[in-house]
Amino acid sequence: MTPADTAERARQAREYESLHNRLFVIRLLVTALALAVFHFAGGSVHLAAGLRTHCGGWWPLTHGLYILTAVFGFAAFTFPLSFYEEHALEHRYGLSRQTFGSWLWDYAKGLLLELALALVFFEVLYALLHWAPDTWWLFATGFYVIFSIGLSAVAPVLIMPLFHKFEPLDNPELVQRVTGFAQRAGLKITGVFRWGLAEKTATANAALAGLGRTRRIILGDTLLKGYTTDEILAVLAHELGHQRHHDLTRLLVVGSALAGLAFGLLHLVLGKMTLAAGFSGAADIAGFPLLVFCLFLFSLVTMPLVNTYSRRREYAADAYAVATLGSNAPLIGALEKLALQNLDDREPAAWIECLLHSHPSIARRVAAVRDIKLAHLTVR
Ligand SMILES: [Zn+2]
Repeated sequence: MTPADTAERARQAREYESLHNRLFVIRLLVTALALAVFHFAGGSVHLAAGLRTHCGGWWPLTHGLYILTAVFGFAAFTFPLSFYEEHALEHRYGLSRQTFGSWLWDYAKGLLLELALALVFFEVLYALLHWAPDTWWLFATGFYVIFSIGLSAVAPVLIMPLFHKFEPLDNPELVQRVTGFAQRAGLKITGVFRWGLAEKTATANAALAGLGRTRRIILGDTLLKGYTTDEILAVLAHELGHQRHHDLTRLLVVGSALAGLAFGLLHLVLGKMTLAAGFSGAADIAGFPLLVFCLFLFSLVTMPLVNTYSRRREYAADAYAVATLGSNAPLIGALEKLALQNLDDREPAAWIECLLHSHPSIARRVAAVRDIKLAHLTVR
């Protein structure tokens, strides 16, 4: 790539970042608007009453149908936004390799999954509101913990394969060296998998996924071409760093603590708000938009905290990778290539990064990696 090409790529990356930030704000406003209209225009009350009349008085059935209708209705309402963000924009910047049909099939599978998860989650939440009106929020926190642990554990074996192909990495040298790193650090890795991204996207990624027996390192096949062996190893060592630091568990603990706080606050406001809004109580499914709005607001307010924590874990995993390889050059090389390939804005505004980004910007990551003094480093 010539310097002019690189400069043009950087300009496109800034434009892409800015479009995504605007879309984020639009999605927030559209979500708030949809919930407000559903609540204030009486749609929610009518839907709940209609289902009660037509399906009898058995509340688990009416609740289930209500949840499916509401989630599907919201997906239909925001479909143009999803299409633009996930398909049209990705094609405009040359990042997607999917046909419209292939994207639509993935979208349909994603929606079915979302409907199933929402059904289980909200059915249980409303059952708890129904059976334990005073202590539901404690049980709901326990349920959230089990639900998120279960989801993390099955994600790489049941959910991710719905969208991409996974097979054991067929590169003996890479597998042997990363297994060697793991053994020296006393870590057990259950596998390194090739993540079939190339058929759908030009972007590259790698991750640590799963829990316990399903835990594995997954490496995008888009990250295998154009990268040196040491650069790929630096990426793998970064993922090993997440494992060594128990980052998935840490994020589950943070998520569960926040869920407990969210449900506790929801308990305080919901009782009063639902009665004031004319519902029979917090367990009245007609108050669903109100409940979802409270959770939505809470997640929005706490998002910068979660992102800040996540960025700190990324810096720590980078430091682990540098210590493992005994050099900072391979990780810097990999990060620079990833930024160009994924059209990452190298240096977004600090406040945008602070609020919205779960990963530090490439410029800050590279600067931090460059600052690591190898002489004092031990693999931690
Ligand atoms: Zn990471």
